[in-house]
Amino acid sequence: MKALVLMEPGRLAFDEVDVPEPGPGEVLVRVRAATTCGTDLKAFLRGHPQIPMPGVLGHEYSGDVAAVGEGAPFEIGQAVMGVHSAPCQQCRWCLGGQENLCDTVMSTKVLGSYAEYLLVPERVARLNLFEKPDHLDYATASLLEPLACVAQALIKTPPKPTDQVVVVGPGAIGLLFVAALKRLGVQDIVLVGRNRTRLAVGRKMGARTENLEGFQAQADIVIECTGKVVVWEASPSWARRGGTVVLFGGCPAGSTASFDTKRLHYDEIILVSPFHFGTQAVRQAREWLIDPEFDVSPLLTGTRTLQEGPEVFRDLEAGVGVKYVFVP
Ligand SMILES: [Zn+2]
Ligand SMILES: [Zn+2]
Repeated sequence: MKALVLMEPGRLAFDEVDVPEPGPGEVLVRVRAATTCGTDLKAFLRGHPQIPMPGVLGHEYSGDVAAVGEGAPFEIGQAVMGVHSAPCQQCRWCLGGQENLCDTVMSTKVLGSYAEYLLVPERVARLNLFEKPDHLDYATASLLEPLACVAQALIKTPPKPTDQVVVVGPGAIGLLFVAALKRLGVQDIVLVGRNRTRLAVGRKMGARTENLEGFQAQADIVIECTGKVVVWEASPSWARRGGTVVLFGGCPAGSTASFDTKRLHYDEIILVSPFHFGTQAVRQAREWLIDPEFDVSPLLTGTRTLQEGPEVFRDLEAGVGVKYVFVP
């Protein structure tokens, strides 16, 4: 099969690789859509500790079941949507209600959706792979994984409709937050950033937008989606007394951030830094996506072939477009 292989940072190859065969409980998916993600861009630019090289890139997907292993809960031909990981539901974290921190959730995740076929492991097929309803297009269904991350954060920090929520960083995740906040009935959503095109997408999705330069706010909730230390450090200054700051964007390994202790303590600013998602968040994200009123189409920049992969990542590096959809 054809696949987009990350050979080393900066080098993507359009290559021929073997089609995997499903073992017990596994599901082979014929990929119909695979959306690009910030994590893939990071891996492309500087390598990523969680992404082996050389290896087929991509972890967001939707498609049709092409083959099933013994006992897998799907049928050939069924349209499916899923995420790339699932918790063990047995470790200390899973049993304690923190499935997102499961001991083996990251080590057992599956990569390789930028290919004609993706083999979904037994655990993921059992817990986090679902039927895709006909009315939902494959590209939108492929957003289940990033939206599950967003759902995890909003389950942990549920906004009230009357809250002012500031979202910093108009990339795909920031824009998905805008969509989810709208869905939760939040009236006052402020999207802050520098990239004018992406801010315009945010306005289309119902946010008010502001330039990051000189931005000031007294928000009930601030959601940081840039993964930049300077923005982490600035985020508490945009929260009201007693407000919550959600540090969502992961910063480079080894980086440190410092905060004004007086502000955090005497103004009781709550800092939370949600990571990944549990099974509940995946189901929440799926419920949003299958709602015909939930419109995330403005953040899908366009459809590309796998062959166009290197060009797509150069565009993403230059901040052109938000999320591309590979149709292998
Ligand atoms: Zn992703
Ligand atoms: Zn676990």
